[in-house]
Amino acid sequence: THFGYKTVETQDKVKMVAGVFHSVAAKYDLMNDLMSGGVHRLWKRFTIELSGVRSGNAVLDIAGGTGDLAAKFSRLVGPTGRVVLADINDSMLTVGREKLTNKGIVGNIEYVQANAECLPFPDNSFDCITIAFGLRNVTDKDAALRSMNRVLKPGGRLLVLEFSKPVNPVIGKLYDRYSFDILPKMGQLVANDEESYRYLAESIRMHPDQETLKGMMADAGFVDVRYHNMTAGVVAVHRGVKP
Ligand code: SAM
Repeated sequence: THFGYKTVETQDKVKMVAGVFHSVAAKYDLMNDLMSGGVHRLWKRFTIELSGVRSGNAVLDIAGGTGDLAAKFSRLVGPTGRVVLADINDSMLTVGREKLTNKGIVGNIEYVQANAECLPFPDNSFDCITIAFGLRNVTDKDAALRSMNRVLKPGGRLLVLEFSKPVNPVIGKLYDRYSFDILPKMGQLVANDEESYRYLAESIRMHPDQETLKGMMADAGFVDVRYHNMTAGVVAVHRGVKP
């Protein structure tokens, strides 16, 4: 049946995503810097600026991986605040915890293994939630957006940083070339893993574009949904508020 087929497909995606991130965890930060030429740092910095996070806030970084955003939030919220770095993948979470602990980021941060589709937190828990380069890996994105809405406090913000659709076709073509021809080769060279980086390119192409994601966030209950393109729309950050 159609349903049976879909179920198999869904399990395959979950397994594949798990395999990809177990495989890339150790080299993840290095590859991020290489693949983006360091620009992912600017995308993340802008996301932090939009977050409006202040001292004393409670922040959830879901699909937080190796903890770049969580590290910055930990400093912003200070000793009276709280940061939860959550990820479905224990390999990524382990690399993240080690990195942050070695940097002396301790005290106001917790690590939780969790699926974005069914977050294990009470309603109205967080002032801000971020998901950076994570949503495209989630099988049921609508369920994930609803779950994030549920655990946000009223007035709280969700920020989704993700690859998106380049704003002009020339850049789109170049970017396609880059991601399908060059990225897998870099993955092979640096991490001895061509397949995972091929998945990366495919998952980027499949991900909803700016307007589609905006609509999905509104459907999940967010208001004032806006997005900002960065690097000509290669990446966009969407922001929505829980009413
Ligand atoms: N946020 C980090 C960053 O920007 O560098 C890591 C992004 S990494 C590309 C994507 C992360 O999403 C991986 O760590 C992966 O384990 C996690 N992930 C995939 N599916 C997930 C899910 N359903 N729930 C939570 N995390 C998930």
